[in-house]
Amino acid sequence: MAHELPPGIQDVFGRVLANLRISVTDRCNLRCHYCMPEREYEWLPKADRLTFEELERLVARMAPLGVRNLRITGGEPLLRRELAQLIARLARIPGIEDIALTTNGILLADQAEALWQAGLSRLTISLDTLRPDRFRKLTGQDRLSATLAGLEAAQSAGFAPIKLNMVVCRGSNDDEVESLLEFALEAGHELRFIEYMDVGGALDWRQEQVLSKGEILERIAHRFGTPEPAPTPPSAPAQRFQLPGGGRFGVIASTTAPFCGTCTRARLTADGWLYACLYATQGLDLRKHLRDGATDEQLTELLTAGWTSRRDRGAEERLAQPAREASVDREELRRDPHLEMHTKGG
Ligand code: SAM
Ligand code: SF4
Ligand code: SF4
Repeated sequence: MAHELPPGIQDVFGRVLANLRISVTDRCNLRCHYCMPEREYEWLPKADRLTFEELERLVARMAPLGVRNLRITGGEPLLRRELAQLIARLARIPGIEDIALTTNGILLADQAEALWQAGLSRLTISLDTLRPDRFRKLTGQDRLSATLAGLEAAQSAGFAPIKLNMVVCRGSNDDEVESLLEFALEAGHELRFIEYMDVGGALDWRQEQVLSKGEILERIAHRFGTPEPAPTPPSAPAQRFQLPGGGRFGVIASTTAPFCGTCTRARLTADGWLYACLYATQGLDLRKHLRDGATDEQLTELLTAGWTSRRDRGAEERLAQPAREASVDREELRRDPHLEMHTKGG
């Protein structure tokens, strides 16, 4: 019963704890150029991966501190065995109101129904192109048809509206801004354009490749008429817009107009490290405490101390950098794979 729980604890800047992103695996079946451009990766040891019991225990400790919304992510979350069982367990925790999942959709056709039955509330599918040849070039796999089959299965299972994430990179897929929006509008999905971020494993990031929110809106205005701002929840990453002919879409302007001031999100890696920001280099090793026998009270104390001392505003700090390039280098990533976006959870 959410109304019986106190409001979220606040960090140094008064931002409440409300959202938790849980990366259930660092593995992925794609190699998107903006996320995993390398040939080889250091994977987290399987024995370090939090079990469903451990995840359930942590979420049950975080709900009384304010966490209401969960997002399951990765790596590719559908690679985690029995994921629907985890969703069902998390959905039963008092205080948890909403569970969402971000996926590349490749394994979704087989899992959509079970996820829906388990109590998954919302689904986001990443889709950067509608061209099979380009999908292969941008992800290393010829699997566009699998993603589209996953999308259809999700619709049939009952998810609505489904969100689509398109990371727009100049020179790679920016010529599909209009066609992807048309596709989403026709099918009743809500497309969110994401600015290319210089985060974690985005080693090839260059400022020139970022198509800014302003440019995205210009292109849309040219084709569909001027979009007007639509009501957007205050702590949502995507700013929503309404088209004159009907239909909505969103833009996540993390690179050119960051929204750290309203960020209520914490992130848990598959091996139990808690991070207060996508760009954070220091985290809290919750797995160690769990496996060393910490009591519920001790976990609550650790979580409270972690959030109430939070000062992170990674994307705003990146914006203030005079000459931007990838935020970490290859050697740093090898030393600490937790800095990867696919480990921390996007
Ligand atoms: N594998 C799943 C997927 O791709 O949907 C979930 C994990 S992925 C890290 C989560 C989201 O982060 C995806 O929508 C992906 O497009 C986005 N992402 C990854 N790297 C990014 C980057 N450098 N800039 C912006 N978004 C990025
Ligand atoms: Fe692409 Fe998601 Fe895999 Fe990263 S984790 S390579 S964004 S599918
Ligand atoms: Fe939140 Fe960090 Fe992203 Fe800013 S950069 S919105 S603080 S996760």
